Amino acid sequence: MTRTRHTQRVRATRPAMASEAARRSVEAADLRALLMMVFHYSGDHYWLTDRFKPTRDTRLIAPEDAGLPEDVQHELREAAHAILCRETAPAVDVPEDELFLRMMSMSLGGQRVPADYVPMMREQMGLTSPLDGIKARGDTRDDDVLPVLVVGAGESGIALGAMLDDLGVDYRIVERGPTVGGTWRDNIYPGCAVDTPNHSYSYSFGRRHPWPRFFSSRPEIQEYLEKCADQFDVRRRIRFDTYCRGAVWDAKAARWRVTVEHQGMSEVIEARFFVAAIGPFGEPTLPDIAGLDTFRGPAVHSAKWTEDLDVAGKRVAVIGTGASCMQIAPTIAPDVAQLSIFQRTPQWIRPIERFHDLIDDDAQTLLSDEPYYAAWYRFIMMWRYGDGLLATLRKDPEWSHPERSLNAANDRHRMEMTRYIEGALASRPDLIERCVPDYPPYGKRILLDNGWYEMLTKPHVDLVTARIRAVEPDGVRLDTGELVAADFLVLATGFDVSRGASRLDIRGLEGVTLASRWEQGAGAYLGITVPGFPNMFLLQGPTTGLGHGGSAIFTSEIQARYTATMITKVLDSDLASVDVKADVHDEYLERVDDLHSRLVWTHPGMVPYYRNAFGKIRTVMPWRLVDYYEMTRRPELDDYHVTTAAAAAR
Ligand code: NAP
Repeated sequence: MTRTRHTQRVRATRPAMASEAARRSVEAADLRALLMMVFHYSGDHYWLTDRFKPTRDTRLIAPEDAGLPEDVQHELREAAHAILCRETAPAVDVPEDELFLRMMSMSLGGQRVPADYVPMMREQMGLTSPLDGIKARGDTRDDDVLPVLVVGAGESGIALGAMLDDLGVDYRIVERGPTVGGTWRDNIYPGCAVDTPNHSYSYSFGRRHPWPRFFSSRPEIQEYLEKCADQFDVRRRIRFDTYCRGAVWDAKAARWRVTVEHQGMSEVIEARFFVAAIGPFGEPTLPDIAGLDTFRGPAVHSAKWTEDLDVAGKRVAVIGTGASCMQIAPTIAPDVAQLSIFQRTPQWIRPIERFHDLIDDDAQTLLSDEPYYAAWYRFIMMWRYGDGLLATLRKDPEWSHPERSLNAANDRHRMEMTRYIEGALASRPDLIERCVPDYPPYGKRILLDNGWYEMLTKPHVDLVTARIRAVEPDGVRLDTGELVAADFLVLATGFDVSRGASRLDIRGLEGVTLASRWEQGAGAYLGITVPGFPNMFLLQGPTTGLGHGGSAIFTSEIQARYTATMITKVLDSDLASVDVKADVHDEYLERVDDLHSRLVWTHPGMVPYYRNAFGKIRTVMPWRLVDYYEMTRRPELDDYHVTTAAAAAR
């Protein structure tokens, strides 16, 4: 008997809902998603006519009524109610390309969706499965060594585990922590939450999770990842509290020898493939500030927060104003006696309505139980937080104000966001000047206003923009000579994202280390494979981060598919190893660098952490999500030098 794949679409029949519950659900529903649900069940093109076309709305969380007139809303809800009250098979399950494009456009109020989004969105909405058409492994009896060793059981390691299992490939994961979750397990600072809408920041496969909010908090995401590790049968393959020191490629045996440590004991695990799924945020950066170790009170990096820390009633100083501070400061502000925030560079921050809103219970019923409704809800979130922004992040060589913006659209964003800051800080004109950045919008990572400006106006909160000279036992000394007194110091100073997988001591062909290979900056073909490191794959590797929008779980899924497919191809052939061709790799990086030279993150007006010491952007991707999806969809052996088992033995 063949079992259902974890990533396979399961067509559950939705039971009929009780009339009252269905009534409440349609009242609470997002009418764009409800409209598409009605079309799936009825197949009646009447529902795709202009009468039902939602008003175009680019807000991340737009009003549920979709701007439709009352009588139209009523007609739609009545039809949806009738459908929900009976057990009904859909008239249209997976729409063919043209119809699907029409539906996508309709759900967005008439916005044109390019045809290349069809496969990606169908898959991401769960209408098709990521491994459709990919053959599982044949005979596994000849395995004399573990096929795959993965390092890291965060969201990318879990995705890969699910796919390897589906393709019949045995694997183990070593994980340095006591449970799954990676960054979400480790970052327990106050207010830690996701700033990508959860209905897109989740796997496209597996059971729908009843996200309590649009932007859920860390414990909710951790709970989701824990559930997925069980649901995808990944947990039993993980060795927890096991630290990977490094890995050495043995060319003759065509396998990796991976050194791991557990409870002080060192061990070597052999595997044919080695996958680093260690995430970009594993290495906190401590600021290079004199006297840091002299501070009398607790001084803690945001990523090293522990549950016993208590800031209540204290004078707290926070250094850094990136995404972590933006969550910590508004959360702790009500409890502390004094909050001093040290800002080196102001940030562009987008207003976001309903950031903290809970999802209505009645809307939740549809999101959890009604597959078409949930699929379209996810599509709308993915689209709004997807590729739309990228086109506005290109430098216009003709633009006459490069000192403040990149192009006309970017300048308009600048004006809108500046107006927003001026409005939010109207009661404190002194803060406005300190909060409006002088570099183009989106030059650093996009941040969402979750109460930041409102917090800055509180009398016990101080935004300090003078330079820091040193940390002293009793506080932070400024260049002006002033001492800002503090009993508790938070270092929200980010992570070293430049080293990536070379944080591990990885040695490829002829003993060359990944660290030395990356001396001039990290790089990998598709962010996944590196020449000279056969049978090694990286997840969330260089050039695959997201600077313009999208969800890291999406990129993990498509990289996991690439990796699992390639591994299956090799295992099912007489090949011993694959090593990406240097020209394929180099040409890829040239394209990345070329595109980035025309995008916002290389603008000289600011220094985003995306940029490495050589001025190159090797963190985030320069293309649309859909481009990267296409590039990784079908791994090509032609891109690799292949070695047969016989040749390896020679
Ligand atoms: P970050 O964005 O790198 O911000 C670090 C901050 O510390 C910056 O404001 C930086 O100033 C400042 N800083 C660094 N060294 C300093 C020094 N020596 N003196 C004074 N200030 C100093 O780090 P992060 O806030 O931890 O965020 C890192 C990434 O983690 C995010 O971009 C995001 O990808 C992820 N994250 C995500 C979420 C989420 O909601 N999903 C939440 C938190 C973090 P400059 O700007 O001048 O360099």
